[in-house]
Amino acid sequence: MIEYRNVSKTYDQGTEAVKNANVTIDKGEFVFIVGKSGSGKSTMIKMLMKEEEPTEGKIIIDGFDITDMKKSKIPYLRRSMGYVFQDFRLLPDRNVYENIAYAMRIIEASPRQIRRQVPIVLSLVGLSHKAKMLPDQLSGGEQQRVAIARAIVNNPTILLADEPTGDLDPETANEIMGLLNEINMRGTTVIIATHAKDIVDKMQKRVIAIENGVIYRDEKGGYNYEI
Ligand code: ADP
Repeated sequence: MIEYRNVSKTYDQGTEAVKNANVTIDKGEFVFIVGKSGSGKSTMIKMLMKEEEPTEGKIIIDGFDITDMKKSKIPYLRRSMGYVFQDFRLLPDRNVYENIAYAMRIIEASPRQIRRQVPIVLSLVGLSHKAKMLPDQLSGGEQQRVAIARAIVNNPTILLADEPTGDLDPETANEIMGLLNEINMRGTTVIIATHAKDIVDKMQKRVIAIENGVIYRDEKGGYNYEI
């Protein structure tokens, strides 16, 4: 359902961030993209959400070449995806409930849909009791749970996460990965860029390893990778 076909990305300054990537990710897969800082992981993710464009090659999602997509269609593509970042990116002046509801208002969901759906995702991430708190009244792990709830509230088919556990202690990081795994079990394709070696080793999921922009390993069942 997601295919990188001979994809390369060279930034304006001449950095070759991704070199001739060929990757296919099936619907419902759970995939780690691993590698050192600067190896090209974020660029791989950003090209899926059209935050960056490949300099060469194509990216096909559900049969559509997104590299050749009309600008007017980009919002629809982005609606089919949820995003989670290392730094949570919550709205600091809005409570947990409002942070999640906001993502639904953007796509013009009805107040009724919002009242129905927000409690469902809050419960899924285990934060029903913190709905009225502001982000800075929560721990890092809780903030990331809110960000995950927000990312899935519109039922995306793909969830993209860029270093989602980068700012968290190891135990909390494990919990967050467990939550992402649960979301995957419910049918969402999950793609995570990370350099959290311990967690990747433990999860035993597909691992795509990249170094200096080159994908040098792609193992379905996970493995102990070296970085
Ligand atoms: P990672 O996510 O693995 O840390 P990135 O995809 O962010 O790697 O970066 C890959 C390479 O591309 C790095 O050398 C980085 O400095 C460079 N790079 C990333 N974004 C930009 C940009 N907007 N402009 C120029 N170079 C960039």
